[in-house]
Amino acid sequence: MCKESLRLLVAYDNAIQRFAAGLEALLVVRENASQEDYARLERSVDQEQVDSEVARIEMDTHCAKHGCSFSQGNRRLSESVSSTT
Ligand SMILES: [Zn+2]
Repeated sequence: MCKESLRLLVAYDNAIQRFAAGLEALLVVRENASQEDYARLERSVDQEQVDSEVARIEMDTHCAKHGCSFSQGNRRLSESVSSTT
């Protein structure tokens, strides 16, 4: 695992965590936020989902090009995180 792939993994992990936090916030505000606030939050969560998807693709693209790969443990971590979405 090279430095660049580690950087990409961290970026992906951060993006996933922002997305997960956004989803949680969405559940919380669903009850008491105005429709406008809810829609705005929903858009930002959508964007976070796109960001995390892009980060994952960058990571995969790098690994394919560079021939480096993530350890099993990290790969499993990524899969378990994305399966909860
Ligand atoms: Zn690499």
